[in-house]
Amino acid sequence: MLKNEKAFVVFSGGQDSTTCLFWAKSMFAEVEAVTFDYGQRHKAEIQCATEIAKELGIRQTILDMSLLNQLAPNALTRQDIDIDQKEGELPTTFVDGRNLLFLSFAAIAAKQAGARHLVTGVCETDFSGYPDCRDSFIKSLNVTLNLSMDYPFVIHTPLMWLDKAETWRLADELGAFQFVREKTLTCYNGIPGDGCGECPACKLRRAGLEKYLQEKGGTQ
Ligand SMILES: [Zn+2]
Repeated sequence: MLKNEKAFVVFSGGQDSTTCLFWAKSMFAEVEAVTFDYGQRHKAEIQCATEIAKELGIRQTILDMSLLNQLAPNALTRQDIDIDQKEGELPTTFVDGRNLLFLSFAAIAAKQAGARHLVTGVCETDFSGYPDCRDSFIKSLNVTLNLSMDYPFVIHTPLMWLDKAETWRLADELGAFQFVREKTLTCYNGIPGDGCGECPACKLRRAGLEKYLQEKGGTQ
């Protein structure tokens, strides 16, 4: 079993990666979090991730990835780029190479700490056209990481085939529904919990939440 092993979770403080953190806690003896500072629009995101890690008693490493913004300016880091998606194009929130770089750096940190398990909240079901959220990319990267460092990494993607409602269900099953709802930050406008309600991230999160609550037959 995995109970005697250690995992590193790529952790942003959002709904998905926080759910992954709870999932990892239920699966592994020891869990650490890696958070990437790449000049997000809102410093609140890093702060939120740090508070969650602290509250859950999880050791967190924050890595400076500001070079990502230097290489590829995008709507997640630049106030002057609107969050937008045109028909047939990748959304402006897509950052070339982000998951490739994040997972590679997380793998290096994990190996240093003697951990071979990596956990990431990428998801192909609701994917907004991000090529580096697809299962085929993750499987390919897993092989590449193992070859590059001669180390038996296993990348876990507990959300890969879940839709947003099923991700809420998973959080609930892990006993983390209220925690995820109140303490995580998904909103592009930097408002935690239920967020601004207007941006694409809030709309997606809310639609999933409503669908889940409806299926559950409860009230909000
Ligand atoms: Zn929002």
